[in-house]
Amino acid sequence: MKNVKLKSPKQSPKLNAATAGRARGRQRGAYSAAEVVEIFRRFSVQRPEPRGELEHVNPFTLVVAVALSAQATDAGVNKATRALFAVADTPQRMLALGEEKLRDYIKTIGLYRNKAKNVIALSEKLITDFGGEVPRTREELMTLPGVGRKTANVVLSMAFGKPTIAVDTHIFRIANRILLAPGRTPDEVEAHLLSVIPEDYLYHAHHWLILHGRYVCKARRPECERCVIADLCKSPEKSSDIPAPLVELPPQVVPVAG
Ligand code: SF4
Repeated sequence: MKNVKLKSPKQSPKLNAATAGRARGRQRGAYSAAEVVEIFRRFSVQRPEPRGELEHVNPFTLVVAVALSAQATDAGVNKATRALFAVADTPQRMLALGEEKLRDYIKTIGLYRNKAKNVIALSEKLITDFGGEVPRTREELMTLPGVGRKTANVVLSMAFGKPTIAVDTHIFRIANRILLAPGRTPDEVEAHLLSVIPEDYLYHAHHWLILHGRYVCKARRPECERCVIADLCKSPEKSSDIPAPLVELPPQVVPVAG
């Protein structure tokens, strides 16, 4: 099968609700509305309550975990943050810990020096501008150092229950590979997904797509024989038309980095 190479996604803050709204009215994908409903119905049977795999204990630690996860695995971030969040689970405690000690906790994570700077800076800003609380709008979240649109969307969804699509590498790949919501940039894919995903499925769609990409529709070789939407999928890369049995999967076990 021909491998479709995609550029790595770059986030930009330009997309806004109006853009997404306009897109909702005009986007056309490779699937009929009924097919899209069926795709997400199957994901919902497999994982009725999908959850993210980044460990956190409150909105602040979620912001920190997502900021640390850029170009790192969730398992690697979890390994570092378990000990970190035991001593620094608020902006005030993070500042008290200080940048140098913070670096020690996260030095197994890529780009840790820069990330430590950002975490200290965002803790300071949370205290000075937001009374130590994590703000609840995308615009405010994106004023925090190291927080881009993707991080803001993850926080809005996971901490505050707002339906958003944070386009990470898995979602970007799947949306293009299976022609569900093709786009050249994460913003385009986000707008396209918002236009095709049925309202009822929007809240969990982010995690369903990430988990499908992480465990089945993998980057190097999609495992189509294990895929519950293989009969519906319109990817030129797919290697099977026979859907895997549709059953609820066991509760997620968050992988622990060795
Ligand atoms: S059939 Fe294959 S390419 Fe299509 S979604 Fe499933 S795993 Fe991905």
